[in-house]
Amino acid sequence: MSEQNRPLVSVRELHKHYHAQGGLLRKGVAVKAVDGVSFDIQRGETFGLVGESGCGKSTLGRAMLRLFDITSGEIHFDGQDIAQMSEKQLKPLRKRMQAIFQDPYSSLNPGMTVQQLVAEPMQIHGYSREEQRERTETLLYKVGLKQEHLQRFPHEFSGGQRQRISIARALSVRPEFVLCDEPLSALDVSVQAQVVNILQDLQQELGLTYLFIAHDLSMVRHISSRIGVMYLGKLVEVAPAGELYSHPAHPYTRALLAAVPLPDPRIRHLDQATLRGEIPGPTSTLPGCKFCSRCPHAMPVCRSQEPAMQEISPGHFAACWLDL
Ligand code: SF4
Repeated sequence: MSEQNRPLVSVRELHKHYHAQGGLLRKGVAVKAVDGVSFDIQRGETFGLVGESGCGKSTLGRAMLRLFDITSGEIHFDGQDIAQMSEKQLKPLRKRMQAIFQDPYSSLNPGMTVQQLVAEPMQIHGYSREEQRERTETLLYKVGLKQEHLQRFPHEFSGGQRQRISIARALSVRPEFVLCDEPLSALDVSVQAQVVNILQDLQQELGLTYLFIAHDLSMVRHISSRIGVMYLGKLVEVAPAGELYSHPAHPYTRALLAAVPLPDPRIRHLDQATLRGEIPGPTSTLPGCKFCSRCPHAMPVCRSQEPAMQEISPGHFAACWLDL
């Protein structure tokens, strides 16, 4: 495959399991936060990843950046398998993969000025002082902040401004791939659109590739080219963004869409019963589909055999025993 056609990031059968240390779960029980996930992200695209809190989407995103060791599987970044690389081997690749985290209040060191925060990754990766200064000023301008903000501390900014600082910091070392881990969740609705616009403008200008994580489908709608839906550590549906909204296939995706608030009061919400019910949990060793206990369409086969991901129309994949 030529370099241009090769996905920038691809994961195959990625697993990340944790072992309970006691407490609510019996000691030693395996919690399968990510349970055999495979997908590709093409250069220049935004892949949206959605699912309820605790479904493993943040763990998956952080595993793809090798922020911790994985249990098993492959992670290919620009053709290199980084899954088992040591920290020393990863260091030259680190500047090509950066992250913007959910909470702009805790992700920025309160004792550093904006200038220090944005310049720090460049220091680590050996940029000269002159480059650090120039690039910090340029990036601050690109995210809509001013030169006079350089010597201020994070507590002097609003949540939206802090997220702009986080974006400038992540982009300082010229990454190609950026994990956006729920970057809008802690922001007011009025500020969310501004941050999305900044991310989109920067993507166009710098040719960035994003993995954009959110807990509901309304947030990823406008920014994603393709969307993956995750449930209890597994991907259950992947489709181009427009297709997922117009023809959601998996019962869980349909339930998530039904839970998105609609601005028109004349339109009644679908019953959200599908999103209630007993959840087997990520420690479940039951065979079959993990959504079984909440699915209104569950059949005997769903309880005994796990459905594989299948292409149901060009580029649209779902893991379900229904004839979708
Ligand atoms: Fe529902 Fe069965 Fe499809 Fe799972 S495999 S989503 S239980 S119909």
